[in-house]
Amino acid sequence: MQAIDVQAPAPGLEALRAQLGGMAVISDPMGLRRKSRDFFWFSPVLKTELEGRHADLVVLPKTREELVRIASLCAIHRVPLTVRGGGTGNYGQAVPLHGGVVVDMTGLAGTVWIKPGAGRFEAGAKLIDIDRTLRPEGWEMRLHPSTRAQATLGGFMAGGAGGIGSCTWGQLADPGAVIAAQVLTVEEEPRFIELRDREALKVLHAYGVNGIITEIEMPLAAWQPWAERIFAFPTLAAAARYGQVLTAAEGIAKKLVSVHDGRIPPMIRRLKPIVPAGQAMVIVMVSQPQATAAEDLAADLGGTVVFSRSNPDAEAAAFEGTGELSPLYEYTWNHTTLYAIKALPETTYLQVRFPAGRELEVLDTLAAAFGDEVIFHLEFQRRFGRIFVSSLPLVRFTTLERLNEIIAIVEAAGAALADPHTYRLDGAGWKQVDAPQSEFRRFADPYGLMNPGKLS
Ligand SMILES: Cc1cc2nc3c(=O)[nH]c(=O)nc-3n(C[C@H](O)[C@H](O)[C@H](O)COP(=O)(O)OP(=O)(O)OC[C@H]3O[C@@H](n4cnc5c(N)ncnc54)[C@H](O)[C@@H]3O)c2cc1C
Repeated sequence: MQAIDVQAPAPGLEALRAQLGGMAVISDPMGLRRKSRDFFWFSPVLKTELEGRHADLVVLPKTREELVRIASLCAIHRVPLTVRGGGTGNYGQAVPLHGGVVVDMTGLAGTVWIKPGAGRFEAGAKLIDIDRTLRPEGWEMRLHPSTRAQATLGGFMAGGAGGIGSCTWGQLADPGAVIAAQVLTVEEEPRFIELRDREALKVLHAYGVNGIITEIEMPLAAWQPWAERIFAFPTLAAAARYGQVLTAAEGIAKKLVSVHDGRIPPMIRRLKPIVPAGQAMVIVMVSQPQATAAEDLAADLGGTVVFSRSNPDAEAAAFEGTGELSPLYEYTWNHTTLYAIKALPETTYLQVRFPAGRELEVLDTLAAAFGDEVIFHLEFQRRFGRIFVSSLPLVRFTTLERLNEIIAIVEAAGAALADPHTYRLDGAGWKQVDAPQSEFRRFADPYGLMNPGKLS
């Protein structure tokens, strides 16, 4: 891992601050710390490397004009600029390694337009609020991370990958998943650039190193009355088989297929009484009229329904926070890690992708290899006409050496890894996007001020 330089206050900061006019800012130590963090502490490695890093000033633009002014002032005074959405990234993406200004985008959260099949939104809009706006129009976002309640669309595009909806719609980097992005350059006279179709990949998963994303145009899905189910299965293998069968059943509209080892429900206080001890769990979001079809497939493989929530109660849990359980997606993807860390603080995680066609065999091998040290949950996705199974396995952390040994064993079994223990964009394994991001950076951020230290 690369060491970080000792932080010194950005030299041009005072001159910049004097020219901000009436723009809202945060400069108290607590506020600076709060707006300089994300969830990097999921990783013991990043926790050591990033703890204590903070911005010198947080600005909260409320209009495009204010955003342009801050981009211009950072360029004029050569002050580092790190863009921040909801601050829910996992790898310190939004941590300003070299201080300077953090720009909080959540004040730029409007809907630009909604048309059949597509919508355009400001980048600071929270994903849950976008779906709230779309619902009366009969549309919804195809994908959202399990952090839908906090994360912004811009942060999802610049820092996320996929999540709820990926079992049907694949990932953000897949063709057609993003229609266009508007980007503001960081220059003395900032320019708005429209990146359409493949061009948008230049800023996708780029951690905000090459332009401030201001608006995003996304494809939409027809709204479905999502219902929620939790199934219990006698073994992880049976649960994983169901995950495959349900994901492959294209005639059943679904938004989430998440399979969990039997040791996971006891770590989650509210799920513990619901899932029988020792049983594997499958969390499913399925269109209400087809819930019975999903249940029948589970019964064929030995699964039983242990929790059932119909629409509109499932929707109320997501949008109004009502009900005995959180929306079920908040127990999946990297929320599972969050609960596991609460239960066992020495827990961390990896990001594993199983080899297509050999998922269950490799899962069997790995589950047997590690005992309680590595516990799997599987997130099913559908991409390029086939099923992809990825996992964010829970790892009981002891030492970095042992973590590296675990990684080697996982790779030797035939699975691929993306490293969640690095803040560097060029060290993140399969998540690198096939687009000229560095080249676009020279164009959009000629002084190399944006989120410095994340990309060489
Ligand atoms: C419990 C938990 C569960 C999670 N589950 C998922 C999941 O299911 N799927 C998934 O993909 N991720 C997941 N994540 C990671 C993260 O929540 C998502 O990627 C989320 O979309 C990030 O959005 P944000 O607004 O919080 O971004 P931030 O954390 O604020 O920023 C992320 C990155 O994007 C950059 N950025 C933000 N806004 C802009 C902008 N307007 N222009 C340019 N750059 C910008 C930031 O500089 C930073 O580098 C999870 C994280 C946690 C803690």
